[in-house]
Amino acid sequence: MVSDMQREQVGSLVHKDLLDKALEVGMHGAPEIKHDEKMHYLGEFRERVIRLLTKEQVAEPGVYPEIVESLKDQRATKMIICGDINYRLVEKYRRLAARINKTCIVIHDPEMKGNTGLVVVSDDAVDIADIAVPDRKTRLATLGVPEAIAGAAGEKVCDMCYKKITEADPGEAINYSRLTLADCFWGEHCIACKEKHGDGSFSSN
Ligand SMILES: [Zn+2]
Repeated sequence: MVSDMQREQVGSLVHKDLLDKALEVGMHGAPEIKHDEKMHYLGEFRERVIRLLTKEQVAEPGVYPEIVESLKDQRATKMIICGDINYRLVEKYRRLAARINKTCIVIHDPEMKGNTGLVVVSDDAVDIADIAVPDRKTRLATLGVPEAIAGAAGEKVCDMCYKKITEADPGEAINYSRLTLADCFWGEHCIACKEKHGDGSFSSN
């Protein structure tokens, strides 16, 4: 049996050992550098970051397919979102993380630096060189997607526009839904191409 007294002695020795190590590293400045680094990645080590969005990217109406992909990555354990961003704009990512069964944390810390809006991270070092995600609209433009369709993320579009966007990037299906026959019957139209569908005479206005 180990007495409480012995346990306490062992405990304080371990504590002293850790303290010595901390002081030793502290003298060489490492914790400060690490702390500063972590303030740029919402409290995480750079080496653990799989993907990163800027605050502006998080605030955009659509969800970035790259984030869907990274959340599905086996190494991803959680998503962290900067608390500076309006909660309504963050909701789409919280729902996404919940659907993929990954933890989502919103972090509030005035010490945070830079323009990081969201990170998907691992519990271990993954050392990914390119964690930034290219601007969605620019990427879609290079794929030949008309600007109006790219800008209609989160909206209902006609079959033609839906086909255009999902053929250019299947991952974008998450950002669009298709106008149903009933929608068209009531005079709703595709906001991406302004195409009128169905018979507008039944419309209430
Ligand atoms: Zn359309």
